Amino acid sequence: MIITKAGVLRSYTFLAAGYRKMHLLKNQAYVNGKWVGAASKSVFDVNNPANGTKIAEVPDMDANDAKIALDVAADAFHTWSQTTAKERATVLRKWFYLCQENGDHLAKILTAESGKPLAESKGEVAYGSSFLEWFADTAKHMNGEIVPSPWPNKQILVTRQPLGVVSVITPWNFPFAMITRKVGALMAAGCTCVIKPSEDTPLTALAAAELAEMAGVPSGVINVVTSSRKNAPSVGKIMCEDDNVGCISFTGSTGVGKILYGLAAKGIKRVALELGGNAPFIVLPSADIEHSLDQAMLAKFRNNGQACVGANRFLIHEAVFDKFVKGFMSRIGTKCILGDGTKEGVTCGPLINKMQVDKVSGLVSDAVSKGAKALIGGKVDTKLGSNFYESTLLVNVSKEMKIYSEEIFGPVAVCVKVKSEEEALQIANNTRSGLAAYVFTKDLGQAFRMSRSLNFGMVAINDGILSTAEAPFGGIKESGIGREGSRHGVEEYTDIKYTLMSALDK
Ligand code: ADP
Repeated sequence: MIITKAGVLRSYTFLAAGYRKMHLLKNQAYVNGKWVGAASKSVFDVNNPANGTKIAEVPDMDANDAKIALDVAADAFHTWSQTTAKERATVLRKWFYLCQENGDHLAKILTAESGKPLAESKGEVAYGSSFLEWFADTAKHMNGEIVPSPWPNKQILVTRQPLGVVSVITPWNFPFAMITRKVGALMAAGCTCVIKPSEDTPLTALAAAELAEMAGVPSGVINVVTSSRKNAPSVGKIMCEDDNVGCISFTGSTGVGKILYGLAAKGIKRVALELGGNAPFIVLPSADIEHSLDQAMLAKFRNNGQACVGANRFLIHEAVFDKFVKGFMSRIGTKCILGDGTKEGVTCGPLINKMQVDKVSGLVSDAVSKGAKALIGGKVDTKLGSNFYESTLLVNVSKEMKIYSEEIFGPVAVCVKVKSEEEALQIANNTRSGLAAYVFTKDLGQAFRMSRSLNFGMVAINDGILSTAEAPFGGIKESGIGREGSRHGVEEYTDIKYTLMSALDK
């Protein structure tokens, strides 16, 4: 136990010597404006995926700890929901500036626990912070409606009310942006929250909470509960079922999303689910091939393929297939530099953990055993460490292979030859996922036809990256429910209220 400057007694948890001086690195959970441990005093390790070393121990909170945080968030809701939009916008904007000013510190923490190259971590901080700025603005534009009434003596008012406490459960692949994208929006709407970050990347979430506190976010509006994978199901359960909770906002796998949707159904809770994808990347004969290749590198290898909008299936027209594959192979060979994300020049870091390595290795071995060919890569780079998977390009991929239809979530590009626009569409749409799709063509009519016919929440024509705070991000089918970013992102955290003003003639 240690006594802090403020005189608060805290239980001591481990912080590795090499990381102790890291600015903003916290190793306790954050509840009601205080840095706290689990009531049980249990902790779990946070490791650096590049070298397996332990960075810190953080509290392993259980359902009882989570319940305390939910009660705190419910209390804070009474006051936060009564603030003006302008007050909320001011706090969000301060948080945005602080995240920007501390971008390099946040990026170092992000790279340490997620493995992504430092340049990508800085990119994520800029992208993630942009949601705070965006929602600071949108907070002030949640207008209501006055609807023409069918009665002469009555008026119909439509307003948007914050829906209460939001349970926020986030993944490890974008540990900062997945929090700001949700929390910026819900705070703008007047809601409060309890965040359960991924067990692999809780430190970025805690650093973000520290900056929120510095920005003047009142105690209890943001709470961060850290839990191990073992406790995630019971913590997730109370975060869905507790009566205080108005909405469950989750980004992660479709499997876990379905569990949470089921739990939310019991209390008819609102959900915002951003789940797995299976993005097609379609290249048609009129496309600028060099441009499509540059974009393919971004769509596939950003965060080493560990992104739900990452290109999963390259559907390349036969007229340009050989040219595309040759260009892709050469770019992967020269531009994918695998290594520790803190090293200068590294563009691809490790996979997050052994589970991911096993999954990617399993998909590639299954494909190769059924006749696929790895033109480059195809195995773990054991010289670098057990989590480093080589950037890989697979051809001769057919339907019987798992990799043909499953989300890969790793640095493996799968190229499939198609004969026509219709065939590309048929393959692209033949999935229960519907998050993002990419199309490369210079034929204007074809671009519109593809945009209309692709059953996905987001379609990028001639681009490999489409996320931005200004646009609605989200999927259809089993890729999720609801939209994040844009003006719609705030609306997810509000209920529509209809007030009838009657007897106006009395
Ligand atoms: P990923 O493949 O990104 O790890 P998951 O869906 O497994 O995707 O994890 C995303 C988030 O969901 C993490 O914060 C994780 O701890 C949490 N999680 C995993 N299982 C459950 C569960 N049964 N209930 C609630 N949260 C869970």
